[in-house]
Amino acid sequence: MQDLQILFFIVGACLGSFGNVLIARLPNGESLCGRSHCPHCKKTIASYDLIPLVSYLVLRGRCRSCRKKISLQYPVVELLSGILALIALAHTHTFVTAVLLGTSLWLLLIITVIDVHTRGIHDALNVPFILCGIAFGSFTTGIDALAVTIGVGFFGVQWAVSKGQWVGSGDVLLMIGISTLLGYWEHVVLMIFIAYLSGALVASFLLMTKRKTRQDHLAFVPFLALGMLVTLLWGERILAIILL
Ligand SMILES: [Zn+2]
Repeated sequence: MQDLQILFFIVGACLGSFGNVLIARLPNGESLCGRSHCPHCKKTIASYDLIPLVSYLVLRGRCRSCRKKISLQYPVVELLSGILALIALAHTHTFVTAVLLGTSLWLLLIITVIDVHTRGIHDALNVPFILCGIAFGSFTTGIDALAVTIGVGFFGVQWAVSKGQWVGSGDVLLMIGISTLLGYWEHVVLMIFIAYLSGALVASFLLMTKRKTRQDHLAFVPFLALGMLVTLLWGERILAIILL
């Protein structure tokens, strides 16, 4: 690995560590300042036990003080954040666009995990995500009004018709960021298709295996994020095959 890749992975993993703090505290309205503590024994975690990924491995996934298990979500979010930073670097041509895309993907990951836990999107994450998306779009493809209109319009109409029952206002706002990041309207259409297809497949699986009932509400952001990532990485190739 080159130096820049190592740097991006480490910074990404550290952002992931901060992301875990956001996931734990933002939905409860807790302050982001103040030291982290074990959710079981409440003991303050020493700074040498807060090294992303490394500390989890050294402690073998258990709290140093009470030996209770640390959620696997912590190292997974740190690892994914590092990988997303590498993806951002590989996918861009300049340092600034790599940082903007990396920050956007990291924000989308944290928004996704919070949505899974709470079925809600926090404006404190949505607003910077939209700003990063607009900045990234401006530096790369330019802001395509049609892409944004399709992305925001598709969910905005559903939000208006269902009075917020099918999709939330947070999903509509999130689409501003996703549409500006993807840049082309064809990619936005593909992203929506992948999101609905994957959502339908997972929902069918959960219904068939009786893990969920029709009354349960499935978090939708994970599928938007999946559609966005797949389109970002392979959208060009997928469209070339479909439109052959
Ligand atoms: Zn503990």
